[in-house]
Amino acid sequence: MSVSKILVCGDVEGNFKTLFTKIGTLHQKKGPFEYLLCVGNFFGSSDDEWKDIKAGKIPVPLTTYILGPNRREHLRFYPDDSNEIVPNLIFLGKRGVLTGSSGLKIAYLSGLEKKDSTEFSFSEKDVTELIARASSGAVDILLTSQWPQGVTKYAKPIDITESANNGSSLVAYLAKHLKPRYHFSGLSGVYYERLPYRNHQVLQELPMHTTRFIGLATVDNDKQLKWLYAFNITPFCSMTSKELTTSTGPVTECPYGVEECTNQFFYDTGSSSGQKRKKSGEEKSSVKKKKNVGVSQERCWFCLTNPDVQKQLLLSIGDHSYITLAKGGLVRDHLLIIPLEHVAASTSLSESAEKEIEDYKLALVEYFHVQDQNVIFFERNFISPHLQIQVVPIPKSSSSGITKTIIEFASDQGLEFTELSKFSVLKQIVPTKKSYFYVEIVNNKKCIGKLLHVIDGNFPLQFGRMMLASRDILNVPNRIDWKECEMSPDEELQVAESFRRHFKKYDFTKR
Ligand SMILES: [Zn+2]
Repeated sequence: MSVSKILVCGDVEGNFKTLFTKIGTLHQKKGPFEYLLCVGNFFGSSDDEWKDIKAGKIPVPLTTYILGPNRREHLRFYPDDSNEIVPNLIFLGKRGVLTGSSGLKIAYLSGLEKKDSTEFSFSEKDVTELIARASSGAVDILLTSQWPQGVTKYAKPIDITESANNGSSLVAYLAKHLKPRYHFSGLSGVYYERLPYRNHQVLQELPMHTTRFIGLATVDNDKQLKWLYAFNITPFCSMTSKELTTSTGPVTECPYGVEECTNQFFYDTGSSSGQKRKKSGEEKSSVKKKKNVGVSQERCWFCLTNPDVQKQLLLSIGDHSYITLAKGGLVRDHLLIIPLEHVAASTSLSESAEKEIEDYKLALVEYFHVQDQNVIFFERNFISPHLQIQVVPIPKSSSSGITKTIIEFASDQGLEFTELSKFSVLKQIVPTKKSYFYVEIVNNKKCIGKLLHVIDGNFPLQFGRMMLASRDILNVPNRIDWKECEMSPDEELQVAESFRRHFKKYDFTKR
């Protein structure tokens, strides 16, 4: 079993000499350590010691990873062209996941929470994207400069400045979803280690590993507060679930409630834009409240108004919706039907968009039928600000008993699916403000099953792909992670072009 020895330090604030002298000694006497990870402000206001680092007068004794800046004036220290600032000193980037040679997974998010994402701040979109990226594997360590809001709940209180104590609700949301085993933050000038908290609900969910949150003080602070943390960790990937869940001491409940994190940022965010059909006063007020927290439209991956949208994957554009090839599809013709309007759920579509999307579905069913394929449509209304209806063709030969197979697969994952009547209308069934996962199964051009799971708490983001990749359906277990399935831009062009050509006679927008 591979054990990693890691060092983590709080805000360096430009005290490089103290830091690297100490690290050098520790590395020799108690090491070797694999990395030094730094949270908070790495750079300070003075350039003196930085010049010595650049000149090689203060060596960096160990691979050191740092987060991005929290202040505009620190931007100048970060090179534009490379992540290696000086030998051994590496800027991790704005957000992402680093997998070490031992398999250790480190997720990181730089900067402070702001409404807009800049070089020194992050927004809701950065957080959703990081969650989506990290979902394929368990995270060992989470690094954020800012503290998570509410982390002291159920734990010892702490006296720190108000701004730091407020922390970031997005960081709390991130921690709640990534469930790292260790979470380190800085910026508050104090050392704080709370009791580990549980990531599951007792008696309601299977036991899971716990999370330790550690806030570190500033390097070389006057109060002699702890700023350096050394520990050994065996990566998730080399541990059994029993080892992971064996608890060795007191733990608390998770300090981050589902309500405060998710509702605030992610439910219904889409309904705030463009919809002019609001009828009741109640609806209006809920829209108003959420207005400022939705993902801004021009930076949404699925809004065609975003200049960065991958236009080469577009297959058909209607008046209210469009079809695109899925990136890294489960099968060659894995498609997405997406409303033009920035709406989060099919239950909040306008009537005309709903109608057009139904027309697209019918056309696709016809199209695939001729190729001896049935179709599965599914939608995950969870951590996704813009609705995507996934369209996956399934060979007719592997479609028998598929409804039952899906229900059983979900049940093995601890998820209960309700089979709805074929005539049911989703909008009337899903409780308001609840996230959900919805599947429609079409067999020989007929809808033979509608399955619904109302999400309460967490939900595996890749569930739809997992279920269809499973042995009894497509049997392509190595294609669960879309990043593993990405085609080259040339291949994408070819597949899209071929689809457009063949789909043309079914496409009502071409008439
Ligand atoms: Zn959008």
